[in-house]
Amino acid sequence: MGGDERGEAMMKTTMMKLMTKDRQARIFLLDSTALIRELLKKQQLDPVTKEALATTLTMSGLLCGLMKDGQRLSIQVNTSNPLAYIRCDVEANGNVRGYVSDELEGHRAKACNIAELIGNRGFIRVTKDIGMGSMFTSTVDMPYQTIVEDFSHFFRKSEQTETVFRYYSCYNEESEILYSRGILFQPLPFAESELLARWSEWMDQNDHKFRVPDLDAGERGLSDCLLDADLVGVEEMQLFCGCSKEMLVGLLYGLGQDELAEAMRQKQDLEIVCSGCGKKYVYNAKDIVSLLK
Ligand SMILES: [Zn+2]
Repeated sequence: MGGDERGEAMMKTTMMKLMTKDRQARIFLLDSTALIRELLKKQQLDPVTKEALATTLTMSGLLCGLMKDGQRLSIQVNTSNPLAYIRCDVEANGNVRGYVSDELEGHRAKACNIAELIGNRGFIRVTKDIGMGSMFTSTVDMPYQTIVEDFSHFFRKSEQTETVFRYYSCYNEESEILYSRGILFQPLPFAESELLARWSEWMDQNDHKFRVPDLDAGERGLSDCLLDADLVGVEEMQLFCGCSKEMLVGLLYGLGQDELAEAMRQKQDLEIVCSGCGKKYVYNAKDIVSLLK
């Protein structure tokens, strides 16, 4: 099987990392619109599942800014239905991917909003890979059923830090994303205690600034929204799966020997779609022969 068909990086997205002028808190701003648009193009999802996936991937993307080199996080938002979940993998280098379980694909979910989709037994499970085979998993319930507030709840319970998340998104009538933006606000350990409340209030009052449809997603546009903070870094983020034709070949066995032999006889190409990124891989008769050997 020749050819390098690794899932290539696609749309670039930039996350802005800021510090409050008093140096007491970090703020990350992520305009994930391009990333989410690219991601949603490949999946047939109902509007509520779309919103849940876009929210989870944007919140997860913000966490890239907190990671050390070489670290990876897998974030799974589990609904009350054990078969229905959203999974996002993010790496410190900005590679992100997100997908939903088969149960949520197509238009199968019957929920009319995120709270209903999550239900009252949802939970977030985060697995942290810090390299050298060391993995840590924490599982925290989702009492808010909003994903966004549940991420804050997760940090409070699991990391013992107060972290505020905000998410702003809008879809048109065709259910295409118009904008998708996330904020992470995290006071540093020595910060004064009322800082969080003050900034939360500020963010609530300035909601509209982040909801301008054609806001300049570049450095100026977003950081101008936060006049009391300085830009300290930018981080690129891109959809990346890492799947390959070779890696997915095993899925062909799932078709069974008979069907494989038949496809070979008919010189028929077989197609496998990666459930992680939606990329299609085509296997021709020659590929299948080498498989059946
Ligand atoms: Zn893939």
